[in-house]
Amino acid sequence: RMNMGDGEYRPFSAKCEIIRDEAGEPAVMIVLIDNNGIEGVIDAVTGLHNGAAFANHTKELGAMGEEAVILKIGLNKFSNTNIMYGTEYGDMVLRRVSELLVQVVGKRGLFYRLAGAKFACLLRVIPRSELYEIYEEIQHALSEEILIDGRKVPIGISGGAVYTRDGNWDSNLMRSRVTYALNHSKHRHHGELIIFNDHHYLDGQDSLRLLSEIHSAAVQGFEGFFLCYQPIVDSKTEEIIGMEALLRFKKEPFGIVPPSAFIEWLEEDPCIFELGNWILRQAVRDLNQIRKQNPDFFVNVNITAAQLERKEFRKAVIDLLSEEQLPARCLCLELTERCRDMDLELLREEIDFFRDKGIKVALDDFGTGNASLSAALELMFDALKIDMSFIKEVQNQPIKQEMVRSIVNFARGIGRQVCIEGVEDQAVRDFLNQYGSNLMQGYYYSKPVPFEEFTKMLSGYAKDREKEEE
Ligand code: C2E
Ligand code: MG
Ligand code: MG
Repeated sequence: RMNMGDGEYRPFSAKCEIIRDEAGEPAVMIVLIDNNGIEGVIDAVTGLHNGAAFANHTKELGAMGEEAVILKIGLNKFSNTNIMYGTEYGDMVLRRVSELLVQVVGKRGLFYRLAGAKFACLLRVIPRSELYEIYEEIQHALSEEILIDGRKVPIGISGGAVYTRDGNWDSNLMRSRVTYALNHSKHRHHGELIIFNDHHYLDGQDSLRLLSEIHSAAVQGFEGFFLCYQPIVDSKTEEIIGMEALLRFKKEPFGIVPPSAFIEWLEEDPCIFELGNWILRQAVRDLNQIRKQNPDFFVNVNITAAQLERKEFRKAVIDLLSEEQLPARCLCLELTERCRDMDLELLREEIDFFRDKGIKVALDDFGTGNASLSAALELMFDALKIDMSFIKEVQNQPIKQEMVRSIVNFARGIGRQVCIEGVEDQAVRDFLNQYGSNLMQGYYYSKPVPFEEFTKMLSGYAKDREKEEE
């Protein structure tokens, strides 16, 4: 925004070029400013709405919580066209491009001309497959159908898109995400449409940037890390009796980053130990809030091999319980598949130590990897969590059904609890009821949510149950 001197601010866009002297020091800076405030909302060249209108419209939609898809398209190497044939010719091409864009998208969305050779489109929510189709049609039209003075001018494009999530969304954030996706498309995916999601920034340069941000946060104050919680329910009564703590990292422009993006990598670094302790403390403190009303509620915390292998880990956990005054039975340590690749003797010693103190131990992702069964036979533990891959489409896959049945029978036969993870809908839940597991977890009950939301859900759930019982 530019301060107009009378206390009013106007939006503008600017481009700048720095000319350096012989020594390479900056000598002259040339800035080209488009005053979006004065020009109104229509782009003079194409007749489309302009960038200022785009900013306003996304802001309005976001404030109303209206769901939308934002598509951003850049014309590849367009500045070359301007340089070679002049801007008048460039403007002609831009006009023809806009006509084609509007023609392809039709009533499904509204196009805007942004600064330079970029366009944005606000679309109502459509399936991703349809968005890809639209994009292909646009690609086709721009590479085949632009004729200027009888000559074909093929234009290549790059494209990024973002689906807004429900609730009031932050329009600045969405615009930065769509730009981010567009840059990805342009620089790394040869113009293929990139839809911003939680995973695509994991390749190349940006993953390095993300990982370095995560690493600095993990060694300095943990800013950006937070925990979400997913309910663990009693299979019989469907009461929420505990929760699993699941780590997240949040920082722009990456948005909320799931642990799959970084946890394995962090496990290789010594900082996982301190971060792990921070996670434990946070989870225990949050749990204690809930225990004021519900003293038997418990929390499951995921633990990595790197933590278990450190001698100081035992003391860190025991000290934490006494400092936060949490009874040991309310904490369950979940050991992932990777933990079970540890030296079995060492693993056994650690598990025995914690269980001796009354802390629960669960084997996570059970059934994956090759150490599962042998570990289960050799180790004393309290619960098995059946890996989600066995639950996916279990209803029509007899082999999975047999696996689930035998894991449940095996665990119950040796007096352990079984938790089925990844229960996504009621049909799966009903189907799985026949196996007699003790605990269930999955999107059907709730996705992992931040603590505040979790406690709200808990109190809502308790009220519903009271009503049912009345
Ligand atoms: P996990 O411990 O097996 O956690 C379950 C994962 O499944 C979670 O993913 C959860 O969001 C997801 N999930 C839960 N219900 C459903 C469902 O119904 N359908 C589907 N498709 N997915 C469901 P998330 O949070 O991305 O975590 C992934 C993994 O990252 C965890 O797997 C765990 O191994 C690791 N992790 C998460 N938080 C931590 C942590 O604080 N410390 C350590 N060391 N690892 C963590
Ligand atoms: Mg887990
Ligand atoms: Mg699991």
